Amino acid sequence: MNRDRVEKLIRELLVEFGEDPQREGLAKTPERVAKSWEFLLRGYGADLKQITQQAMFTQDTNNMIVVRDIEVYSLCEHHMLPFFGRCHIGYIPRGKVLGVSKLARIADAFARRLQIQERLTQQIARAVMVSIDAEGAGVVIEARHLCMMMRGVEKQNSLMTTSSVLGSFHSSGATRAEFLALIGKGRYD
Ligand SMILES: [Zn+2]
Repeated sequence: MNRDRVEKLIRELLVEFGEDPQREGLAKTPERVAKSWEFLLRGYGADLKQITQQAMFTQDTNNMIVVRDIEVYSLCEHHMLPFFGRCHIGYIPRGKVLGVSKLARIADAFARRLQIQERLTQQIARAVMVSIDAEGAGVVIEARHLCMMMRGVEKQNSLMTTSSVLGSFHSSGATRAEFLALIGKGRYD
């Protein structure tokens, strides 16, 4: 991201809003917004291989591993407004496990981009699956979208839930049910 160019564009945007970009409160806004976007969109520069390889451990287990309530903050690609909530990740390893903090970093690498919740959910599940050649993986994200809450009518409390299940989480109803029970979502049937 070219910081100077982004700042210039934001200054132009302020003029379009009918604002005076020179006034005291706004003078440094383009700089702040540019910095903030660099942070919020840093997922584009994330090196997923590096993230996953650093914290991969060999462990002889094929029990399900579940990490609940990973906070995710993202920006919807339709309105560039935040959506945020919780991500639950489960997987069944096949010899290799991921450190807990790495699951959060994987989620972050995909969340810090312009996204839709469905794709974000899928990308995290695939990354977990592929990086450790897991037997199966499942991801559930529950999020609130400011584009609905701030713009829409009477949608203040809507929580969107998306899920992606791969491998044995997809093929086995029992595995999927175990995952959903462990994240406190009960059963499908
Ligand atoms: Zn939106």
